[in-house]
Amino acid sequence: MTRYVIVGGGVAGTTAAQNLRRLDPSAAVTLLGDEPYPYYFRPKLWEFLAGKLEESALVFHPMEWYASQKIDLRVKTKVSGIQPTAHSLTLAAGATLPYDRLLLATGASCFVPDIPGVKLPGVFVLRTLQDAAAMRAEAARCRRAIVVGGGLLGLETAHALCALNLDVTVVEIMPHLLPRQLDREGAQFLQTRLESMGLKFITGARTMAVTGESAATGIRLEDGREVPGDLVLFSAGIVPRAELARDAGIEVKKGIIAGPSMQTSAADIFAAGDAAEVEGRIYGLVTPAIEQARVASQNMAGAEQTAYPGTMPSATLKLLGMDLTSLGEATAEDAALTVRRVLDEKAGTYKKIIVRDGVVVGAILLNDALTVPLLKQLIASKRDVSQVQDRLLDEAFDLKAFVVGK
Ligand SMILES: Cc1cc2nc3c(=O)[nH]c(=O)nc-3n(C[C@H](O)[C@H](O)[C@H](O)COP(=O)(O)OP(=O)(O)OC[C@H]3O[C@@H](n4cnc5c(N)ncnc54)[C@H](O)[C@@H]3O)c2cc1C
Repeated sequence: MTRYVIVGGGVAGTTAAQNLRRLDPSAAVTLLGDEPYPYYFRPKLWEFLAGKLEESALVFHPMEWYASQKIDLRVKTKVSGIQPTAHSLTLAAGATLPYDRLLLATGASCFVPDIPGVKLPGVFVLRTLQDAAAMRAEAARCRRAIVVGGGLLGLETAHALCALNLDVTVVEIMPHLLPRQLDREGAQFLQTRLESMGLKFITGARTMAVTGESAATGIRLEDGREVPGDLVLFSAGIVPRAELARDAGIEVKKGIIAGPSMQTSAADIFAAGDAAEVEGRIYGLVTPAIEQARVASQNMAGAEQTAYPGTMPSATLKLLGMDLTSLGEATAEDAALTVRRVLDEKAGTYKKIIVRDGVVVGAILLNDALTVPLLKQLIASKRDVSQVQDRLLDEAFDLKAFVVGK
């Protein structure tokens, strides 16, 4: 009987456990997670923070489901060491656990810059349900919040804090919001709309310190300006949790290095999700975590060998009734690219495609959800569009007929 052990009970770990059980019905599948809950959907943390969902609505499968799947789920169980040669793990509580194949699905933590004041009460990150619960309790006592980081997660959190009637200022170090998903024009368009809904923004500003003596009272910017706020949230990117792998001598750069089969540099040890770095890339998104977990578990079980082909980065932001999607190389800029943009103030839509050598490689769509699947398909198919690239976004052009071929 093969013993599979998975470290990390998030979406990657849980997907792999379920898949291993299906592929190898007689195996022992053990899923170890240091959080107090079984897998819950992190994107729902905003609704929880905004007071629209309760804790019980977040958990994906009840504990009984794991028992019915014969998955030995152990919550509140932190792994403190791996011994790759002995094929065993050490738990923080002291026990040793042997494995035949191991998956590291340890996720990521939030990056917090090493600046004065970040340890003060009133300073938060949002990664776990416990973070969200602590912030929700604090928000009830606060009036003004600052969100450091105007990326996808920062904006969604700012929106949730707004719903709690806080006065929210978002501070972004780059010259515009959503630097990973949007170009300048698209970001300005989005910012104006969000401002009209009550959010405040400071862009192109580096945060140098959290101010306050015994609790946060705001932040200080590089130009000396002080922004007042009694709740400060850092949303400035993620750091893969690779420490277990690093300490065990497994190859780590930013994340745990995994090859196309999702195997690490150590025999019988695989990695998936936010902890894994594949071809220099850490995705930090749910869909790639699921896809990597599927490939890893397939190869762990010795079923038909599969390789992870990479995932087209695709992010959707749903904010205050707005719908923003960026696909592929949405912010790529170089002379070899052809860029087409259509901005319709009245309709509230912004569309952009990026074409390289006659092939669409990226797109941005604001408030045009119907076009998203068509452009996704077009990017994935790598179809030559050189004959029509100037017309692709025209209203008169039948994109659906072109993509679907009808
Ligand atoms: C608020 C929020 C909203 C998000 N929204 C979106 C979204 O809309 N769309 C999207 O695609 N992505 C979103 N993401 C990102 C997405 O949640 C992650 O990409 C995804 O959770 C990665 O899954 P994972 O299983 O790799 O890691 P995780 O979900 O982080 O799970 C890893 C687990 O391993 C545990 N662990 C770590 N080390 C140990 C150890 N030594 N011993 C035991 N357990 C350990 C961790 O505590 C954690 O429970 C969001 C993230 C957050 C925080």
